[in-house]
Amino acid sequence: MAEYLVNRRDIEFILYEHLDVEQLCRYEKYSEFNREVFDMVLEQGLKLAKEELAPLNEIADREGAKFENGTVTFPKEFHEPYRKFCEGGWIGVASSPEWGGQGLPRVIAMATGEFFTGACLAFMMTPSLAHGAGHMFETFASEELKNLFVEKMYAGQWAGTMCLTEPQAGSNVGDVKTMAVKEGDVYKITGTKIFISSGDHDLAENIIHPVLARTPDAPPGIKGISLFLVPKIRVNPDGTLGEPNDVHCGNIEEKMGLHGSSTCTLNFGDEGNCIGYLVGEENKGIVYMFQMMNEARINVGLQGSALGAAAYEHALQYAKERIQGVDVRNMKDPNAPRVPIIDHPDVRRMLLFGKSITEATRALLMKTIYYEDLAEVSEDEAEREKAAGYVDLFTPLCKAYSSDMGFEVCVQAMQILGGYGYCQEYPVEQYARDSKIASIYEGTNGIQALDLLGRKLAMKGGALYMNFLNDLNAFIEENRSHESLASYIEKLAAAKDLLADITNDFMTKSMSGDAIYSIAHATPYLSSFSEVVCAWLLMEQALIAQKRLDEICAEKGADDPEARKALAGENDEAKFYAGKLDSMKFYVTQILPNVQARVASAKTEDRTILDAVL
Ligand SMILES: Cc1cc2nc3c(=O)[nH]c(=O)nc-3n(C[C@H](O)[C@H](O)[C@H](O)COP(=O)(O)OP(=O)(O)OC[C@H]3O[C@@H](n4cnc5c(N)ncnc54)[C@H](O)[C@@H]3O)c2cc1C
Repeated sequence: MAEYLVNRRDIEFILYEHLDVEQLCRYEKYSEFNREVFDMVLEQGLKLAKEELAPLNEIADREGAKFENGTVTFPKEFHEPYRKFCEGGWIGVASSPEWGGQGLPRVIAMATGEFFTGACLAFMMTPSLAHGAGHMFETFASEELKNLFVEKMYAGQWAGTMCLTEPQAGSNVGDVKTMAVKEGDVYKITGTKIFISSGDHDLAENIIHPVLARTPDAPPGIKGISLFLVPKIRVNPDGTLGEPNDVHCGNIEEKMGLHGSSTCTLNFGDEGNCIGYLVGEENKGIVYMFQMMNEARINVGLQGSALGAAAYEHALQYAKERIQGVDVRNMKDPNAPRVPIIDHPDVRRMLLFGKSITEATRALLMKTIYYEDLAEVSEDEAEREKAAGYVDLFTPLCKAYSSDMGFEVCVQAMQILGGYGYCQEYPVEQYARDSKIASIYEGTNGIQALDLLGRKLAMKGGALYMNFLNDLNAFIEENRSHESLASYIEKLAAAKDLLADITNDFMTKSMSGDAIYSIAHATPYLSSFSEVVCAWLLMEQALIAQKRLDEICAEKGADDPEARKALAGENDEAKFYAGKLDSMKFYVTQILPNVQARVASAKTEDRTILDAVL
């Protein structure tokens, strides 16, 4: 059984040194918390992840969810950790105490979320969906529905799902056909949803489905969709369980990975007896569902980043232990000592790729969720609005870039392990298989790119994008003459100029009726945008790291490059900060130049993508 490995120090660095999340405790909502509490939560979360969830990962993969006699079961080993997870209040860790939550900042919940997800993604699907669905009901459902359902969902007593996809309605949710016909105070639901994660299982006594459906006279498309709360087992007015609600699992999918998560076909109302409750108003379902989808998109980005991070840590450990070949400088000497593979430049390149991408996507995700906290608690309206804008702008980057690159890090980790990377003896091949889905569900990454290009850039008259550009320009100007990092800041400035240039081109094309050309380049555009943002975040971190490293070196009397290097080899903190600088340098010199190639390709005006006969 593989251990769960994670760089807790990097997470603490982001929380306390990069984002300075203790600042949140100045606001009333978080005034009862302090760093001690945050540290305790991290400690408990990591313990639970390592001791209870990590041992499930291999079982989840090998045994998987099972569908027998019309019902779904998870491996029996899931049950006790699920009980402990719920008892510890982890589902509602950042939810309102009014509904039984712990009320912690979301950014702290994300830090523990990385531990849980990295330890066992398949297990985490059920609690994550219970939280997302519960939060959507808390925000939009009637008092009566909230009182009946929300607290039990945050407690994990009742689980949740999200029921959007149908055979003909995948990326295009507006095509859902599931019907909801009003009968008195309730609706009768009929239809089939496919691919529903945790759609059926035996972890909780009830499952509460948020279902997108249409009423008979609804307008076509997205504007005719309503949201219904559909329990698997009906709930009496006093909160006790009643009779089954005519929701049946027809099948579960056999998948490439994530075997411990049930991916269900759900049939609603086969016997004409499935009751649903309208949430909010008719025809506004997609607006409500967007809250859950946006949260889930950031969470899916975390899935990619967390599994990539775990795979990287395993590859790093392996590379230090595996002895193979000689130092390339001694290649001609048959008696040269054999070295660990971490000494080979190509392996070092792959490791630095994993390290810098992991730290970059982790920073992107945590900064975005920190903005979400600020958007809620800041007393300054302009700051709240700007923070909310950043959440909107960065959500597609979080989802698509973190999932694509997290998978890529897993693939590189497999490569570092050589033959063992392809074998089940080590966990990295499972991380790769499990993480692939993150680029597909919750709106494919192609759809995220369209969201960025088609919606987010134009949102609020372009204000979100302009705020981002102005802040980045100000950062560059402020640090342009930095003593040791100026040359890297110039590289960031050059990439930013290219991004701004191609953004202008795309906007001009859209206005002149040639949006399709830009759409063909939407995915590379999202990658370039993400890389500029990630380079910025790693640069912010590098400035902090450089200062701290200088302080440590001064304190220890390491005043020449050799002495500084030696210190980094023996002092953990010096090593960490030197490592942060290396991540930035690798990212800016080896990954950020991709922006140049993509922008050059988008500027060719070549229309093969659109015109080719395929
Ligand atoms: C393991 C798993 C778990 C899932 N869990 C859930 C769940 O809990 N709830 C739920 O509702 N759904 C769930 N899904 C469904 C998932 O969200 C969909 O598979 C996904 O949205 C894509 O839809 P599709 O499979 O129909 O692909 P399609 O929509 O057919 O897309 C196929 C390809 O075409 C591209 N494409 C489609 N339309 C466009 C467009 N307009 N522009 C550009 N490219 C486009 C896509 O990007 C993709 O590459 C799950 C799926 C899986 C495999």
